[in-house]
Amino acid sequence: MRQLIAGNWKMNGSYGALAAYAGDLKAGLARLGAVDLLVCPPDPLVRPLIEALGGAGGSVAGDDVKVAVGAQDCGEKRAGAHTGDVSADLLAELGARFVILGHSERRLDHHETNAMVRAKAEAAAGAGLIPIICVGESRAERAQDEAVTVVRAQLAGSLPDGFAGVVAYEPIWAIGTGTVPSLEQIMQIHEAIRAALVKQLGDAGATMHILYGGSVKPDNAQAILALPEVGGALVGGASLKAEDFLAIAAAATGG
Ligand code: PEP
Repeated sequence: MRQLIAGNWKMNGSYGALAAYAGDLKAGLARLGAVDLLVCPPDPLVRPLIEALGGAGGSVAGDDVKVAVGAQDCGEKRAGAHTGDVSADLLAELGARFVILGHSERRLDHHETNAMVRAKAEAAAGAGLIPIICVGESRAERAQDEAVTVVRAQLAGSLPDGFAGVVAYEPIWAIGTGTVPSLEQIMQIHEAIRAALVKQLGDAGATMHILYGGSVKPDNAQAILALPEVGGALVGGASLKAEDFLAIAAAATGG
């Protein structure tokens, strides 16, 4: 399976720094093998980033290496009186191809429930965006041996019927901390997620990308990305520097 390396800029990045980032990213693409890249900047940068990359959110370097641009969230509704929300339809019109949904920072900081994430995923799919739904346990839940139970419940509650998208496993205790689960732990939970997806979605669940996210860096990416059932990475901090992001993408194809 061709791996997807997705960058989540969170509330970082600036309009002024975009050209340099896009230039560095484009310069490095030619060195990469067959891998898909995705960059998710804050919403106001979606269109400028697409333009800086020189493509309509699609291929900028030929058939083998693609960079798509995505968003980090979308509204639950398609349009209307929802001050401050941004619709999936508008993101799609701007050229976004994917949208990250249910990131733990949104679940925690904005009290997003599984039902809300599910509604957003339906809105995203309706607008033609590919949802990336994040799941993952807290440190306390891991300590109580509840990681699989928590993640299964998140999948059951957040994925709409007939979901066609991507799932990202992001243990909360690994996000932005520099602490990474053991390879064994990542492997076990990705296998559990695969089994849950097949149960929930049938054949579609068997081939769906499952990304790992949580302190992925150039020096640990290769070992993580080589694990069975890991279909790519969701990268926060290390996606902010094009050089590091490219190094992680290179690790997806063996270095
Ligand atoms: C994330 O926020 O999705 C993430 C994985 O962050 P980091 O890579 O910085 O841990």
